[in-house]
Amino acid sequence: MRPRFHPRLINGPFDDPGLYIPFLFQHRAIIFDLGDIICLSAKNLLKISHAFVTHTHMDHFIGFDRLLRTLLGREKTLALFGPEGFIKNVEGKLAGYAWNLVGNFNYPLNLEITEVNSQSTVYRRYRCRDRFIPANKSVEQPFNGILYEEPGFTVTAAILDHGIPCLGLAIKEHFHVNILKDGLIKLGLEPGPWLADFKQALYSRSDPETKFELRSGPGEKARHFPLGELAAKIARITPGQKIAYITDVAYNQSNAERIVALAEGSDHLFIEAAFMNTHEDIAAEKKHLTAGQAGMLAAMAGAKQFSVFHFSPRYMGEEQRLREEARRAYERHRSEARRQMAYDPSS
Ligand SMILES: [Zn+2]
Ligand SMILES: [Zn+2]
Repeated sequence: MRPRFHPRLINGPFDDPGLYIPFLFQHRAIIFDLGDIICLSAKNLLKISHAFVTHTHMDHFIGFDRLLRTLLGREKTLALFGPEGFIKNVEGKLAGYAWNLVGNFNYPLNLEITEVNSQSTVYRRYRCRDRFIPANKSVEQPFNGILYEEPGFTVTAAILDHGIPCLGLAIKEHFHVNILKDGLIKLGLEPGPWLADFKQALYSRSDPETKFELRSGPGEKARHFPLGELAAKIARITPGQKIAYITDVAYNQSNAERIVALAEGSDHLFIEAAFMNTHEDIAAEKKHLTAGQAGMLAAMAGAKQFSVFHFSPRYMGEEQRLREEARRAYERHRSEARRQMAYDPSS
């Protein structure tokens, strides 16, 4: 199976945190955190449709300017999500520049900002053409953990404690569509851009009787199939992929419970490991996790794979020690969880 999401940490573990998630076969990506993003090319920045910011400490938000600079003058809508106070933070950034000439741009850039509070989300739109003056009054909606949803996937968030509210983030594909090569060959079909439309029709749960039109190649005659029949011949549906991202959180019971619930069953959990367990007191004071705590949380969430990042510079040259501590904690807690599952007093 070729996964749909291809997440990668933007920087090394001692540099600003952030996760770039391009989508397979689509000129599209989402990003978790906007710290230093200098190493993302303009081509990669232009793919971003949705940016999710955990909190607005500089190392997670300074890249907003670079992203905005790259998108300015483009026909594009960028949706941004962040924690309590986010709208004020974005407006503060926008207020830091002069916008008197942007009305001349041929292509409009729109920003859609959503701020997540404990019970509700607040949404506002801004148009470059209007010098980023808010285009609407704030729209408030109840917050039920879902930040963003479209037919193929959902992005959820948990509000965590970092001295200020900080979002834990997860993206979950609703299901995965695997294309069967043999099926394509039997029908005499060539892979091509039509496959993205085909998958989209499945994600949208279109009626199986819908006639699906495809052209196998440029200049080829259009062929029509009932969607359900085509799906039965060329596709296999498997569980969707889940990626979770946790950074800048204090270790306490409430955070631990929310992290485990958010990241449960993730295929890949990216989780900060700022300090070693020996510096647990400093971690607590700075409201960050230790590597041991990160590994334990990854195990408790049942993450199939996990990566640690956002190391304190005090461990420069010793990153292997942090990774080792996290790995050992993960394995210890995984085997404990397995032992508990094997022991079922009701049987
Ligand atoms: Zn940070
Ligand atoms: Zn922080």
